[in-house]
Amino acid sequence: MTGRYLTKSRFLLAMECPTKLFYTGKPNEYADQSSEDPFLAALAEGGFQVGALARSYFPGGHMIGQLDDQAALAETARLLQQENVVLYEPAFLYENLFVRVDILVKEDGCLRLYEVKSKSWNPAEGMPFVGKRGTLAAAWKPYLYDVAFQACVVGKAMPEFSTEAFLMLADKTARCPTDGLNRKFRIRRLSGSKAEVLIGNLSPDDLSVRLLTSVPVDTYVSMVVNGEGTKDFDSLGFWGVLRYFAECYAEDRKIPPEPGGKCGKCQFRSSEENGQKKSGLKECWKEAFGWRDEDFGQPLVLDLWDYRKKDKAISAGKLKVTDLEEQDLGMRDNGDDGRPGLSRTRRQLLQIDKTKANDDKSFIDRDNLKREMGAWCFPLHFIDFETAIAPIPFTAGRHPYEMIAFQYSHHVVEENGGVRHAGQFLLADPGVFPNYEFLRALKTELEKDQGSVFRYSHYENTVLNVIHRQLREDESPPEDSEELLAFIESISHSSSGNEYSWQGSRDMIDLLDMVKRYYYHPLTRGSNSIKYVLPAVLESSAFLQRKYAGEVYGAEGGIFSWNFKGKRWIEKENDRVKDPYLLLPKMFADIAPEEMEHLMSGEEENVIRHGGAAMTAYARLQYEEMQDFERQAIVDALLQYCELDTLAMVMLYEAWREEVS
Ligand code: SF4
Repeated sequence: MTGRYLTKSRFLLAMECPTKLFYTGKPNEYADQSSEDPFLAALAEGGFQVGALARSYFPGGHMIGQLDDQAALAETARLLQQENVVLYEPAFLYENLFVRVDILVKEDGCLRLYEVKSKSWNPAEGMPFVGKRGTLAAAWKPYLYDVAFQACVVGKAMPEFSTEAFLMLADKTARCPTDGLNRKFRIRRLSGSKAEVLIGNLSPDDLSVRLLTSVPVDTYVSMVVNGEGTKDFDSLGFWGVLRYFAECYAEDRKIPPEPGGKCGKCQFRSSEENGQKKSGLKECWKEAFGWRDEDFGQPLVLDLWDYRKKDKAISAGKLKVTDLEEQDLGMRDNGDDGRPGLSRTRRQLLQIDKTKANDDKSFIDRDNLKREMGAWCFPLHFIDFETAIAPIPFTAGRHPYEMIAFQYSHHVVEENGGVRHAGQFLLADPGVFPNYEFLRALKTELEKDQGSVFRYSHYENTVLNVIHRQLREDESPPEDSEELLAFIESISHSSSGNEYSWQGSRDMIDLLDMVKRYYYHPLTRGSNSIKYVLPAVLESSAFLQRKYAGEVYGAEGGIFSWNFKGKRWIEKENDRVKDPYLLLPKMFADIAPEEMEHLMSGEEENVIRHGGAAMTAYARLQYEEMQDFERQAIVDALLQYCELDTLAMVMLYEAWREEVS
């Protein structure tokens, strides 16, 4: 035994790209953007609570989890000598393949494996694992590969037993039977990523409705093992692939890279600034294409915004943005999509042209932007929401994994240019369902006038659609339910798939959409996240640099702020304006900067931002045992981050107003 085992997470990583096996687990050598604290990731996704709840459905089991691998194998083998037994996190080894099973039930000569997932499922919609053409559904493949890997290893390690495999998923249709169930699962961090779940007294009522359901998946496990419904194991077959990965990992042998579009999201693609550690992507591209360091000085084809033909371009040897031509974009009708401003392909072409011309000046479609801005009504309202999920509901009647809207920030701009931080909301008290109070507070702030309301991404609209449904389906709705529904319908529109249809007379205006259509700055390097757009706008706007250079923000007689006092937003380093997000205090004092960077990194449509740091902060406030001063520090940081998000929208507006006036 080498001790370098192929575990299920390494197997899944290798299924994304086999070369990743070589870079993983070397945190001092290779930069790894996904090396987020597993404790925080599990906390934000609800892994700890869901795992503990699942175990509550199989009482009387033995926990093996905290032991090291060899001790866990020995303890598992010892306990499995019992006729019937329930084990939590037992360990199994076959050849160089090692697994820990979430829950294992040994009964009547059968080993039943339960893999608990932080994922919800609607039983009314049937089995989602196979698509119409009989192929495994892409969204479920990692879950099925995971459980297939475990079932195979356990089956081979314990050949005298039959095995059955189950996924334990949150049942979207189940309603929590009691109030306060969520609060019965508290988390105490132990060393590293380890945590202890402190389970309060669970009553029979608490467990009377199963929020998690066991879905039998043997059929799909067989499909995976036999290579049916998937081409992922074509070359060697399932077992051949497992053995090949295990052998390469055991010998620390790199599987030759085959770069493609997948490299764009590779966690081993380090940023240029992170010179301390090696970049896996650079190694791969040097090896595959014979590149040298200087080749990485220009944007890669991976950096072209929303480019969906990366694989094709890379196979054709077009590796840099400057290698691309108009015909590589699949442009139709000369890029005209019938809407004002830049279409997707026109925007891509603009990025290519500016890169080729080494032009770092911004592009702004003044005419169209001016026309749009002329229709906006003052005062202007800029809002941003932060949300999380509650794997185990706070109150009776609610479903698992419901969206929790716990925070917003709100800036106002008057017609005379006056700016103020008009309001904010944060309700993260443990066990309190905040959505209706959140909505009530927002309504009070926005209903004072008929000014235009702005969001950055479709996300705020999605959140309001979710709260709309929660209100409609609530078995004991609040007294002001009708007013709240009417308010949602006034400032949003119904999402596709919503059985109710509405179009608000004051529907929020999406500034991200405005950016995509009318604005491009080369400094954003193809990202439209506000976290990239803001530094670019500040860098290029003399107006903003003048206005925010002094300590005016939050100063008496300056711009009103709820969370800052005399804040200066323009600070320069190497003659460049510093990213304002870097001027904020750290959200978590106990998190290393590179982990924080990952949590805060802005992505298109803000998915990561909304699912990242704020969600993690909320989860910590809900479930983690911590002292008051730690709690206060997280609350203060949340308020400042969210305020900067809406201030960033204001600054973008101000820069545009200067440009078009
Ligand atoms: S850079 Fe590309 S080829 Fe290299 S490990 Fe990452 S995804 Fe694989």
